[in-house]
Amino acid sequence: MNENSHAQPAQTQIVMLGTGTPRPDPERSGPATAIVVNGTPYLVDFGPGVVRRAAAAYSKGVTAFGPAAAELTTVFLTHLHADHTAGYPDLILTPWILGRTKPISVYGPPGLRAMTKHVLEAWKIDIDNRTNGIDRLPRAGCRVNVHEIVPGVIYSDRNIRITAFPVRHGALADAFGFRLETPDRVIVISGDTAPTPSLAKHCEGCDVLIHEAYSQQTYRSVPRKWQRYRREYHTSSSELAALAGRVKPRLLVLYHRANAGGAMTLADPEAALLDEVRCRYDGRVVTAHDLDVF
Ligand SMILES: [Zn+2]
Ligand SMILES: [Zn+2]
Repeated sequence: MNENSHAQPAQTQIVMLGTGTPRPDPERSGPATAIVVNGTPYLVDFGPGVVRRAAAAYSKGVTAFGPAAAELTTVFLTHLHADHTAGYPDLILTPWILGRTKPISVYGPPGLRAMTKHVLEAWKIDIDNRTNGIDRLPRAGCRVNVHEIVPGVIYSDRNIRITAFPVRHGALADAFGFRLETPDRVIVISGDTAPTPSLAKHCEGCDVLIHEAYSQQTYRSVPRKWQRYRREYHTSSSELAALAGRVKPRLLVLYHRANAGGAMTLADPEAALLDEVRCRYDGRVVTAHDLDVF
């Protein structure tokens, strides 16, 4: 589904590369969102499956990613949870093996430097083999320039300005949301968060708000411990509707939709979540699927 299919094509495209959660849903990769501005892609989060979804998007015409995601070289991370980072070795190594020759730059919370070092160490035998063996791959192509961030403007070029703001994700320190300003759009990505005043504060003039959510229906079906977890780490449909009513984005995109548990046999509550939000909020709202473009 393409929200823009009936409107003037935007200069800035949002490509949903992963809309899932830790649940290993084959239809939903881990969280990953690409913003393409004037043909340059900027990636936010790298959940499992990110490179394959980028390749799928390329096949569907999003050529900015390059073949084998070689152009996904400017990358931002909201927080260090595994569902947002389990695609990291894939993002570093796969496009390099397939031909990327330049380093990637990654901006994320404190701890990113150690994670990066350990990923490169974990794959040391492969990296040494591919740089010293017959393939002679350039070592620069699997290098990572790490920038650990604090709240404020973390990146700026002629296409985009990105501001990181702290969000509230339970006991996890250093979880961020991002405000991305391009020549024609203001996009806010919640990251993972319970309701927090900082999010609304950074939504001024927001065209597209991409926000995580869980439905009351699934909340009622999970054990008490996980209800508490949701309250402290995530945002319910009614809390999100209240936020959207205040900040009034032109388009609200739901992603990272919590499910009723790990079992793949449970009913898909997507319609329930959308209905719950629409009951309390009358602006434009959609649920995102992998490879949607907004
Ligand atoms: Zn998280
Ligand atoms: Zn998450």
